[in-house]
Amino acid sequence: MTSHPLLEQLNDKQRAAVSAPERHMLVLAGAGSGKTRVLVHRIAWLLQEYHLSPYSIMAVTFTNKAAAEMRGRVEELVGSSTRAMWIGTFHGLAHRLLRAHYMDVGLPQNFQILDSDDQQRMLKRIMRSMNLDEKRWSPKQAQWFINAKKDEGLRPHHLDGHDFNERTYKEIYDAYQVACDRAGLVDFAELLLRAHELLRDNRIVREHYQKRFRHILVDEFQDTNAIQYAWVKLLSGGGAGGEHENYVTIVGDDDQSIYGWRGAKIENIHQFTRDYPNVDTIRLEQNYRSTNTILSAANSVIANNSDRLGKELWTEGGNGESIDLYAAYNELDEARYIASQIEAWHEQGNALQDVALLYRSNAQSRVLEEALLHARIPYRIYGGLRFFDRQEVKDALAYLRLLANRNDDAALERVINTPTRGIGARTLEIVRDGARQRGLSLWDAAKQLATEKVLTGRAANAVLSFIDLVQELEDETAEYSLGRQVDTVIKSSGLMAMYQAEKGEKAETRVENLKELVNACDNFDQLGTETPEDMTPLNAFLAHAALESGEEQAEEHQDAVQLMTLHSAKGLEFPLVFMCGVEEGLFPSQQSLDEAGRLAEERRLCYVGMTRAMQKLVITYAEQRRIYGQEKLHRASRFIAEIPPENLNHVRMQTRSRSSDGFGGNQASYGRFHSGASHEAFTESGFQLGQRVRHVKFGEGTVLNYEGSGPQSRIQVNFDDLGSKWLVVAYARLERC
Ligand code: ATP
Ligand code: MG
Repeated sequence: MTSHPLLEQLNDKQRAAVSAPERHMLVLAGAGSGKTRVLVHRIAWLLQEYHLSPYSIMAVTFTNKAAAEMRGRVEELVGSSTRAMWIGTFHGLAHRLLRAHYMDVGLPQNFQILDSDDQQRMLKRIMRSMNLDEKRWSPKQAQWFINAKKDEGLRPHHLDGHDFNERTYKEIYDAYQVACDRAGLVDFAELLLRAHELLRDNRIVREHYQKRFRHILVDEFQDTNAIQYAWVKLLSGGGAGGEHENYVTIVGDDDQSIYGWRGAKIENIHQFTRDYPNVDTIRLEQNYRSTNTILSAANSVIANNSDRLGKELWTEGGNGESIDLYAAYNELDEARYIASQIEAWHEQGNALQDVALLYRSNAQSRVLEEALLHARIPYRIYGGLRFFDRQEVKDALAYLRLLANRNDDAALERVINTPTRGIGARTLEIVRDGARQRGLSLWDAAKQLATEKVLTGRAANAVLSFIDLVQELEDETAEYSLGRQVDTVIKSSGLMAMYQAEKGEKAETRVENLKELVNACDNFDQLGTETPEDMTPLNAFLAHAALESGEEQAEEHQDAVQLMTLHSAKGLEFPLVFMCGVEEGLFPSQQSLDEAGRLAEERRLCYVGMTRAMQKLVITYAEQRRIYGQEKLHRASRFIAEIPPENLNHVRMQTRSRSSDGFGGNQASYGRFHSGASHEAFTESGFQLGQRVRHVKFGEGTVLNYEGSGPQSRIQVNFDDLGSKWLVVAYARLERC
């Protein structure tokens, strides 16, 4: 084949896939083999060589960030704008469809998105009104049930309620849906389901999009659930016997399927080859991301799973460094070790943004964050507690949501008494009852009850003044720019003053976040987002806030280490990767050990984590960890034992840090030893790091650190009840226990 700029830097198989005639395609290949790259180049090829309009292409990615990157890459390759191309996550695209066709799906124009947190609150309220025993029925479980059913495409009337359990959940689902519909609220699963029903039931709409999207391309296909796949089928005309048969390209890796717990189905890959005729299957085998060491370690871990589609992966990347394995005595030590390694990396002139810290559970991040803070290493949390999830930001957004839609019960609940304005739990209870009996939203009920004097005295006045406040805010800010509108709402509602009156660092951050929200609104460019032009700026912003999964946080341009869960690392790559907390009971998680099939999924997650590393992988675990409020003893994860020993380098600490607290200094250096070293005694006192000791007054604890020599020597102990303390060894009279 003659050389073409779009085909440069592709291997033969990639080139064949990119330049193939229009057809259905399955690209099935392991991590780092260039699947996403093929997808990007394929889109560029369709535009440039087949002269398709961007309008006729829909591409589905796993995160909003990936979508933005993909659009950027395609534009770079073809040298023109691709605004008309639909590219985004399934949720983002579903949202877009519903906005465009809100009337067809029976939603108000100003419908709002309910995030997971709000969904839970709402369920709690509904379950209370149903008088369900709170001990037996938890909102969290109901949420799980409802979302799972929605992901399978099931409405309450589809459920037969064959036992008491299911009958109750069915009733909850029913009541919840009625409440959502009345309030114009749509949860995440509902976005997908409604959009699916729209396409399925409305022939005109369906045909319009079938005619439009000649090519549909899906990345990370192994993690699509039933409803998402059904979507692809409807849009492509596949399986539905539609007259518009479009081309579908799916890209995936069965070994990286990590959302089975959320209903994703690996079998969709097989199903695809059955549902579509003449699928061209392309397998890529060369890995361009990682060193041989990292790749062969990852390959041997995943080899312990059965039922794999089977793929070969090799690299020309050279062996590179071995994988460092650090056995920490507890999570503080682990975090400190990681911080010290990052400092060393940075001192060698490497960028911090090339480093990722991956963990199994979000709860692990706090300790890591503290260690980084102490070491003054800037960091960013990716997909963690995102900006729009923070309490104060959600408060402000709730006011804005009420401005946009008075029937938003979840928003009203959140702010009717924030800041406090004398509307107590009792009053709220009456309003909820009234709303239920009269079939009204909380807003309308509150208004009626106060005017009809069902509510009396102070309560009535407080409710009425809240109602006036929201009304006035809307009138006053109607003509304002978005930024000014939000600024006014934050101030006039009393939110700003409330957080300003609070003391401490946390309150300061909250005030900063509120200010940042105004900034975000000022900078919010409605045109640059995936929303139809006829939405109000406020509605567009609220949708953006709900959908944005925190991938862009503050200080976007600062060089910073990235922290994220293993799940959110999918598809990404970093020169240096730390996988932390690789312990039995944490990773694999305790639950996965109890449920069939889950262990294999944890192993795939391990494979995903390892294959994010380009140059260097560091694995750490702690023998003792305080997590979820409990101290636990752990063994190294079985996944570590599945790595060939020749790929591993056991690290242990050589010298002590001189610091005045658990994290400071980071002057400790960590030597490199081959073969499994354990923590040996190297404190002069005869105590070992990690050892359990008893103090007469402070009780029992664990030795964390040690400094100085002779009579000056001090020891740091993490006491079970009191936390960590530095003690002079000569006086402490510690005993081993
Ligand atoms: P994952 O399964 O993790 O999503 P992937 O298969 O999508 O991985 P990519 O992210 O597309 O892999 O590619 C991995 C890395 O290899 C990227 O940095 C990419 O730019 C690079 N790469 C892919 N193909 C080639 C090639 N032919 N020549 C040079 N570099 C390549
Ligand atoms: Mg990819």
